[in-house]
Amino acid sequence: MSRFESGGTADAIYRFDVLILSPRRNEMLRIFSFVSEEKILDIIRVENLRHVYKSSSGDKVALDGINFSIAEGEFVAIIGNNGSGKSTLAKHFNALLLPTSGKIFIDGFDTSDEKNLWHVRENVGMVFQNPDSEIVAAIVEDDVAFGLENLGIAPEKIRERVDLALDAVNMSDYKNFSPSKLSGGQKQRIAIAGVIAMQTKIIVFDEPTAMLDPQGRREVLSMVKKLHAQGKTIIYITHFMEEAAQAQRVFLMEGGKIIKNDTPREIFSNVREMKRLGFSVPVAAELAERLRKKNFKLPPKILTADELAEALK
Ligand code: ADP
Ligand code: MG
Repeated sequence: MSRFESGGTADAIYRFDVLILSPRRNEMLRIFSFVSEEKILDIIRVENLRHVYKSSSGDKVALDGINFSIAEGEFVAIIGNNGSGKSTLAKHFNALLLPTSGKIFIDGFDTSDEKNLWHVRENVGMVFQNPDSEIVAAIVEDDVAFGLENLGIAPEKIRERVDLALDAVNMSDYKNFSPSKLSGGQKQRIAIAGVIAMQTKIIVFDEPTAMLDPQGRREVLSMVKKLHAQGKTIIYITHFMEEAAQAQRVFLMEGGKIIKNDTPREIFSNVREMKRLGFSVPVAAELAERLRKKNFKLPPKILTADELAEALK
């Protein structure tokens, strides 16, 4: 049984797990789990997270006092200049990195408790920047199946899940292809299919479009939006402000801290401040700001091209 604090409405919530020792794999399997009270928990909760990389050349504080909660089904974008700590934070969501101090809870499970590793990894899928470094198999469908084989899932179930996942990313026709024959956008869709097949509740994307052409970027972003519409919790790190503008919430990181946590509309309508911080803003927000300077009377906080067109009618 593991205890964890609630999101603030109750003093404590208890999760009960019934575990058996699997004879074949010599590890604990969870066969049953329930939470003592029916409460909507934040699916991700981060408390005073600090991460320090230790090396011979000295310590590097990469995350410094991070706090936030994300509700199940939210779509959060993370932006920030290079070195601000985005990837370090991403790697904490599935316990690739553990906090130097502070806590991160995934679906109530403390990632720094070794017993919880299995729960954490079954809840969080990751898609990284470079599709080439993510692809492990010589044939597309084997690549999508890879994570499932590692989980010890039955072959016929794997078949079914792989087919569904390839269908979901519109890549069924390529299932027998060599990944090396695919475009960057197609490779990223295969990586996404691998995560879909794992059926995690949370998917973390760390600059998945950074190496793609505009067509590949559109393909990947439309997949991300589809997964969000299906109820997945999405964390989406990007350098493209137009992409971040499509999330429900944006975290802006600087120097290992989250310095803004707000809706895209609030964040990007502050054109001058964003520029001062070294960011661009979506084209429509920028254009609206320029027109205001030329004395066009426009409503505040314009974010999309459609809104700008409407305002100029
Ligand atoms: P971002 O993804 O926002 O570019 P990172 O999380 O990769 O930022 O890096 C945050 C800071 O931590 C940077 O200063 C970076 O140089 C440093 N850093 C990242 N990885 C390591 C590492 N393995 N060892 C030491 N320092 C690191
Ligand atoms: Mg990074």
